[in-house]
Amino acid sequence: MTDTIATLFIDGKWVPSSSGETRTVICPADQSEVGVVSEATAEDVERAILAARRSVDARVWADVRASERGDFLLRVADALQERKDEFARAEALDTGKRLVEAEGDMDDITACFRYFGKIADQHPGRLVDAGDASVISRIVHEPIGVCGLITPWNFPLLQASWKIAPALAAGNSFILKPAELTPHTSMLIMEVLDALGLPAGVANLVLGDGGVVGAPLSSHPEIDMVSFTGGLVTGRKIGESAAQGIKNVALELGGKNPNVIFADADYEAALDNALNAGFLDSGLVCSAGTRLIVQDTIAERFVDELVARAEGIVMGGPFDEAAETGPLISKEHRDKVADYVQRGIEAGARLRSGGHWGGPEHEQGFFYAPTVLDRCTADNPAVVEEGFGPVITVETFSTEEEAIAIANDTEYGLAGAVWTANSGVANRVSRRLRHGTIWINDYHPYLPQAEWGGFKKSGVGRELGPTGLEEYTAAKHIYENTEPAVSGWFPRKG
Ligand code: NAD
Repeated sequence: MTDTIATLFIDGKWVPSSSGETRTVICPADQSEVGVVSEATAEDVERAILAARRSVDARVWADVRASERGDFLLRVADALQERKDEFARAEALDTGKRLVEAEGDMDDITACFRYFGKIADQHPGRLVDAGDASVISRIVHEPIGVCGLITPWNFPLLQASWKIAPALAAGNSFILKPAELTPHTSMLIMEVLDALGLPAGVANLVLGDGGVVGAPLSSHPEIDMVSFTGGLVTGRKIGESAAQGIKNVALELGGKNPNVIFADADYEAALDNALNAGFLDSGLVCSAGTRLIVQDTIAERFVDELVARAEGIVMGGPFDEAAETGPLISKEHRDKVADYVQRGIEAGARLRSGGHWGGPEHEQGFFYAPTVLDRCTADNPAVVEEGFGPVITVETFSTEEEAIAIANDTEYGLAGAVWTANSGVANRVSRRLRHGTIWINDYHPYLPQAEWGGFKKSGVGRELGPTGLEEYTAAKHIYENTEPAVSGWFPRKG
């Protein structure tokens, strides 16, 4: 009975879609059914936005003391840890990623809630010296209001937590729209927020298609801020739509991330992490180091060994303990990756490993084998485009200057790494790379305390860190004259 499915959370209640429509979610590892969820309509989104607006106007969350909002987030973190297995399983089924990776995501999600819980009441505000003894001038940070939060399918709850935690810490209300392929952990977190007593209307969840359900979150007049994580094409549309309404906008978009290996680097660590950089989570990571840039003196041996190890990577579903990597998210996405690799080869790259689907044992899933393309030129489409799959392209350099030029030769600027034993080189190169996160002799770790975001077309704004909280606030200047007096500009006449 599809009409009894009520998986939208609007104004503190679980409700079905106003059209009764549903969507079946499948696991990309074997196409088995994971669940059936409500498919929201524009009318449902309207109701969610208005519920959030009412809660903002009534200040039901904004007027809760910041320290209590922080405590609330710490309780959310505890609840997430208690239900970690259930959440990780749901995430693994929706995304097809290995359970162990989904469990790791849960720890990161908990850490994010803890971080914003701890800094919720730490915003100092500012006193401004007006140069006048009768004036008290201060800057306070108000909640920004109704936030539209739109998230992708690769780290569904992790990306949502980077938005939900600071939005709530700062006293806002929100409407979350997760990717249509991966809704389940977003539903579970609404359960947690509701059970812990978040007032009705503060947290709302709408599920469904980007064009119908996501688009109003950047265009509706009652939205104050939209925070989006996803691809460049969608991000541009959201940015344009938000600009029409003069809304605050934060965009976390794609990346084409350089992983630069100097000949003096710790060879084993660099090699091992080059695999990790490109193939972790099947390369479905916005900051994946898929652009390997190796110094020419070691390139041949390094790439031969990378290829040998890539060929040995075991693919499998979420609960296959032997698996080292999982499937892509959908058939359409796998076809896009296959086409991207094909175009790279046609443009002159040499296929060294992978370049094919998962093999007979994975027929039901959307697997794509870890792929290495070498002899790539800077204009090869496989080097230029994001690709978003388990595909590493190889370029070589001879000098430090050349390495920097190649690493910056991309329209994106999300993340990158430099591997060298020479800290002078490491620091010079890291300062000159135009990417939002730089790892020196490592790949992938990030901290909730440290800002995350992109240069160039990788986005606008920053998540995490103190700036990640500030994005959800509006600075307000309060100027108090303690000795009111007649100004005399327009004197009384007669
Ligand atoms: P996507 O842009 O296709 O979709 C992201 C979200 O936007 C989904 O919820 C989708 O339904 C919604 N959407 C689609 N059209 C919309 C519209 N017109 N208006 C409003 N919402 C709309 O991205 P994806 O394929 O889900 O995710 C992959 C992309 O996300 C990659 O490019 C990846 O690099 C990027 N990403 C970036 C980061 C980061 O931190 N910078 C993190 C994760 C993923």
